[in-house]
Amino acid sequence: MLINLHTHLEGRVRPTTAAELAARAGTPAPPRGWQEAIRLDAPGDLTAYLAKVSSTYPFFGSADALARITREAVEDAAADGQDYLELRFGPATHVRDRFGLDDVVAAALDGLHDGVRATGMPAGLVVAALRVHDAELNAAVARAAARRAGDGVLGFDLAGDELRYPDLTAYAEAFALARAAGLGITCHAAEAGPAHAAQDAVRLLGATRIGHGAHIADAPDVMRWAADHGIVVEVCPTSNWYTGATPALHHHPAPRFLAAGIPLVLGDDNPAQTGSPLSAEAEILTGALGFTTADRAALDATSVAAAFMDDSVRHDLRARLAAV
Ligand SMILES: [Zn+2]
Repeated sequence: MLINLHTHLEGRVRPTTAAELAARAGTPAPPRGWQEAIRLDAPGDLTAYLAKVSSTYPFFGSADALARITREAVEDAAADGQDYLELRFGPATHVRDRFGLDDVVAAALDGLHDGVRATGMPAGLVVAALRVHDAELNAAVARAAARRAGDGVLGFDLAGDELRYPDLTAYAEAFALARAAGLGITCHAAEAGPAHAAQDAVRLLGATRIGHGAHIADAPDVMRWAADHGIVVEVCPTSNWYTGATPALHHHPAPRFLAAGIPLVLGDDNPAQTGSPLSAEAEILTGALGFTTADRAALDATSVAAAFMDDSVRHDLRARLAAV
């Protein structure tokens, strides 16, 4: 089964769509075209990676374009063979004059619902607060997410530059609002920062899932803590290689997490940048990273249990897993 629990809408824009939206807006094409502007062709660092992701931000500022990008992201995931998708995005980045936070979330939900209707693949949104934004703006993002809880918004996340903004107390109010609305809580942590950042995300923000968490592997005591507390780590191997969080694919810590008993789920993070959709990430688990069939089955079961999906969707996916 292919359950995508860590992927960004901003990292799923089709180059053909970017070209079309740019032409319509009168935006000049990048020197070597949109494919080149969006896609990374080799591993680098987080800064280079995020620069590629942000190349498409100008296209998120209108309801029609945002709905289209979201619908196409759902269609592309379904075409990749995915069975369930949690699509995260940071709405505050896309606010414009007369296109406020509620409008941004509404446009993404319109596209999401269209994509789900067209493909039959269940999907939901995870709204992300951003580290670069202040407490007040992130609280407003949480309130906008809360207003659509149960209507396609399933979870809340914190994304952005972990090294420049390591202090999580600034985000506590936003996460308290999200928890009160019943949203599932995940947090990018220990991706670029140290292992204990994952513990901070659990203790200060109420995260039950950790995005990436690659550096948890640096600290045996944090490895034990994650296993003992059942903290779910969302692994994204190619992304971690491309951002330099891991020096090579076969050095990715997923096998060490597995051996330590840490529950794992899978994501493809930003496939428009890496060129590696979830189906390819799943092959990396069983290829370069040596996961057995039983390890994959355990990951599927963890994914269904840890997803922020509605209980009816969870029930359906559990039944499909049992039938495999
Ligand atoms: Zn991510």
